[in-house]
Amino acid sequence: MSLRKNLRAELEAPEELRRFGSGWIAGVLGFALALGALFLVFILRQPALLGMPELSALHSQSLLKPILFATMIAAFFCGTLSLTLRDKKLLGTLTIVITLVASLWGAMPQIGDLTGGHRVFFGLDFFIINVIFGGVLFIPLERIFPHRAEQPVFRGEWREDLFYYFISSMLVQVLTFTTLAPSTALVATGSFNDLRQWVGGLPFVIQIIAIMALTDFVQYWVHRAFHRVPFLWKFHAVHHSAKSMDWIAGARMHFLEIIVLRAATATPAFVLGFTESALQTYLLIVYVYSTFVHANLNWNLGIFERFLVTPRFHHWHHGLEKEAIDVNFAIHFPLYDRLFGTYHMPEDRWPKGYGIGGHPVPTGYWQQFLYPFRRTK
Ligand SMILES: [Zn+2]
Ligand SMILES: [Zn+2]
Repeated sequence: MSLRKNLRAELEAPEELRRFGSGWIAGVLGFALALGALFLVFILRQPALLGMPELSALHSQSLLKPILFATMIAAFFCGTLSLTLRDKKLLGTLTIVITLVASLWGAMPQIGDLTGGHRVFFGLDFFIINVIFGGVLFIPLERIFPHRAEQPVFRGEWREDLFYYFISSMLVQVLTFTTLAPSTALVATGSFNDLRQWVGGLPFVIQIIAIMALTDFVQYWVHRAFHRVPFLWKFHAVHHSAKSMDWIAGARMHFLEIIVLRAATATPAFVLGFTESALQTYLLIVYVYSTFVHANLNWNLGIFERFLVTPRFHHWHHGLEKEAIDVNFAIHFPLYDRLFGTYHMPEDRWPKGYGIGGHPVPTGYWQQFLYPFRRTK
């Protein structure tokens, strides 16, 4: 059967194959949304073809972009849901493929442009760059300087973690956008204009260090809250459920935690008026840095270990033993852990194992997604 006939058969599926829970509704909805996204990208890319004055409001990127992002996320989720639920994968696959085409088309002229102002960017390119860059850089390093030499590249649960890597890279811009919404509103009030001007005028390197110090301070307390508050812990437990540490282990993080953490750290950085290029550079640093601190690397960085978070420092945060519980919350500067009494760096020792005692978190992306909402026995 041809694709067209197959598609038609799916759309016109008999009622018993369309019931709630069969993945049909999600598939059809996703398919429609994906086509909508494709159309929106078309409008953004070819505004001249829609020269009608009454549509000029649509040309304003500020209006169209959030709609496009929302449509793409919704399509992506519906497609994934349909792929999970439905035996026939056609609708889900088409949805994902069309969404990817739309995102690539939207991103095309801007790939590689890290400082540009106007970007439609869904993040497939980011995922590809991320995996290639991360893989090319870290897989050989982990082979040459392994902390645990017996741990293979394709260790247990690598597929799950790669999927996390995929999701977070795909949504990096969307997440940035949604988490920036509150700060955009704050900036619009104009009450920070003088401060913003001063901060924006600081030298680039100073801005980067300031962003790191500021976001790590906020991150430290949010992170500590995620450990302290039982309801929040169930979300963060997903990150700690990794039993192997390597370059993709750090990507394992509950979707909700990513949003909370991103919003909490991005809001002050954005409101204070750091320049866009500084913020974008910081985003890149965070990605590489968090990959680095989770990596399976045996480096002893001597004096640097006192000032900067290293793999050994963060591996202790993931340690299975008692002494590793609730220590080393910082992700850039160990100073915060020293100041607030959570610093733990025994001389030359590494934790013996990783994860949470008793390993309460189930495996698999969707199982882990639902884990915090489930009652524990
Ligand atoms: Zn933690
Ligand atoms: Zn971690």
